[in-house]
Amino acid sequence: MCRHLAWLGRPRTLAALVLDPPSSLLVQSHAPRRQRYGTVNADGWGVGFWADGHPEPARWRSAQPLWGSASFASVAPAVSSRCVLAAVRSATVGMPIEEAAAAPFTDGRWLLSHNGRVDRAVLPPARDAESVVDSAQLAALVFSRGLDSLGATVREVGAADPSARLNLLAADGTRLLATTWGDTLSVLVTDEGTALASEPWDDDPRWSDVPDRMLVEVTPDGLTQTPLEASEPA
Ligand code: GLN
Repeated sequence: MCRHLAWLGRPRTLAALVLDPPSSLLVQSHAPRRQRYGTVNADGWGVGFWADGHPEPARWRSAQPLWGSASFASVAPAVSSRCVLAAVRSATVGMPIEEAAAAPFTDGRWLLSHNGRVDRAVLPPARDAESVVDSAQLAALVFSRGLDSLGATVREVGAADPSARLNLLAADGTRLLATTWGDTLSVLVTDEGTALASEPWDDDPRWSDVPDRMLVEVTPDGLTQTPLEASEPA
């Protein structure tokens, strides 16, 4: 995925998070401001969220451009959630364009999106991956290792493929996790909740940029950022 976002906080409509802001994910699907790789994100989209009373996340994904979905535009203002993860996709060369290749991926408990690329040859075979796309294979590895090992998994994959870009974003309904490894990520902390996004969706001065090679965790108690690589000994 080339641009993704997550929200944890008071309920927000999917429209308020994905469609309405001046530089929303919808706008980023055709005119991203900070994207380092690719120019448009027209190869699909996905929105996952937790609905009250449902422990498992609901997902709506498509292999079409987000701007073409009149159905999503109609439903999005009517659906609210405390925890949302959404993405728009620019397929890496050679990767399939299909709904199953659009994030968020899931293991039934977590949602996960990958902004970047990785050489699939460095990943263990993943029979339960949703697609052959590199991001789904990586998601299967992250799910099998467990999200508490996300930082270690990213370090290991990054060491095995030094040209990998591994910006990951995950949510389980009560907690967000993200890594920066080669692409942009910004954070917005408000009284209402916390957002993580590949790039700010508006000009709110409270957005701040996350440095590269960080692990970010958001819980109802706040946000922590931990360097993913210990500094080399002198
Ligand atoms: N490699 C992933 C894909 O092909 C993600 C691409 C991206 O981040 N632009 O879907």
